Amino acid sequence: MVADLKPAAARFSPTACPRLVIKIGSALLVDAAGTVRREWLKGVVADIADRRSAGQQIVVVSSGAIALGARRLGLPKGGRASLEDAQAAAATGQIALSQCWAELLGDEGLTAAQMLVTLDDLEDRRRYLNAASTLDRLLTLGVVPIINENDSVATEEIRFGDNDRLAARISQAALAGGVILMSDIDGLYTANPQRDPAATHIAEVTRIDARIRAMADGGSGSGMGSGGMISKLEAARIATAAGAHLAIISGGQERPLTAFAAGARGTVFVATRPENARRAWLAGRLTVKGKLHVDAGAAHALADGRSLLPAGVTAVEGRFERGDVLDIVAPDGTVLARGLAEYDAPDATKIIGRRSDALAGILGYAPRGAMVHRDHMVLIG
Ligand code: GLU
Repeated sequence: MVADLKPAAARFSPTACPRLVIKIGSALLVDAAGTVRREWLKGVVADIADRRSAGQQIVVVSSGAIALGARRLGLPKGGRASLEDAQAAAATGQIALSQCWAELLGDEGLTAAQMLVTLDDLEDRRRYLNAASTLDRLLTLGVVPIINENDSVATEEIRFGDNDRLAARISQAALAGGVILMSDIDGLYTANPQRDPAATHIAEVTRIDARIRAMADGGSGSGMGSGGMISKLEAARIATAAGAHLAIISGGQERPLTAFAAGARGTVFVATRPENARRAWLAGRLTVKGKLHVDAGAAHALADGRSLLPAGVTAVEGRFERGDVLDIVAPDGTVLARGLAEYDAPDATKIIGRRSDALAGILGYAPRGAMVHRDHMVLIG
C-alpha cells in the first residue's frame, strides 16, 4: 500500500505523516433513516487498522451524534430545529456513536477513547494544553481517540458548530502532519458542481486566496451535517497555517482511505510552512510571562531536543500560570528557548532542582512529564 502511493496521497502516508487526523461527516456515518452505516464504517475502520499497523497514529473526529439522536428521539429537522433539540439529540446519539466506534475498532484489536470538547477548551491555553497532553498520551499508548464537539453542553456562543474546523484545531493540538476530511464530495470545484455542470475539480491548493474562497459556497449538501465547503476552507486555512496538509476526499466508496492512497482524487491543501512551523508561533508572537534559569546540563539537554525537567532549573522569575509563555535562560544569561509553562509559578518554584520521583510528594498531585515539554518549546538563536 505504501509503495504505490500517488503523490497527493503520499503526503498523508504513515512515513510522511506519523500522526493523522481523520474527520468523518454525518452524511457518511448515518443513513437517511437515521441509523449508522455500519458496513461502510467497518471498511473505514479496516483502513484505520492498516494505517495503525504501518505505525501511523490516528485521531478520528466523528460527527453523527445529532443525526443519530434525532432519529431515536423522533425529533424534526434532523434534531436541528432548536439548540435544545440539538443538545438532546447529541446527548442521545453520542453514546450510540461511541459504542459503535468502540465495537468496530475492538473487532480490529484496537482500543477507542472518547474526547468531547468545546471551542473554549481549545481557545483557553491551559485547557488547550490539557487536551494536547491527553491526546499525546492516548496516541503514544496506541489508542484511537474518537473526538466530537460536546454538543450537549455547548451553547451557540461557544460552539464550533462544524467538525471541519474542530478537526483542524485538533490537528494543531495533536501536532499532526495531516488532516483528511472525509465528505460526500471529492474535493473543491471551481463552482458548486450540483448547480454548475461546467465546474471543474481542483486537485491541489497551495494558497487559499480570494479566488479559491469564491469557489466555495455555504451549507451542507446533505442537509445532515453543518459543514459545507466554506467551513472546509476555513479548516484548511487553520491546518495549513499550523504546518499540516489537509485533504478533502470522498467517502462515497468502500475503504475510502485505501482508495485515496491508490489514486482516487481529492483536493489537497498544502501546508504553508515547513514542519517545525508548528512550534514557530511560539518564537515570535506571544508575550513572555516569566523566566526559568537553567544549569549547564539542562542547557545541553535542550540543545539535544529534550524537554526541560525541574531538576535542571535553578531559579524561577515572574508570575505565570500553566500555559503561559516563558523564556528559558542559560547560566550566562542568554535566552536559549521559549516554551509553554507546564506549572503555575508557585508550583514551579516548589519543585526546581528536584528529581522527578520527588515531585508527587511535594505537589500533592501527579506531576506533569516536564517543566516545559519539548513539543511546546522552540530553541532561539
Ligand atoms: N457535532 C455534530 C454531531 O456530532 C456534527 C457537527 C458537524 O456537522 O460538523 O452531530
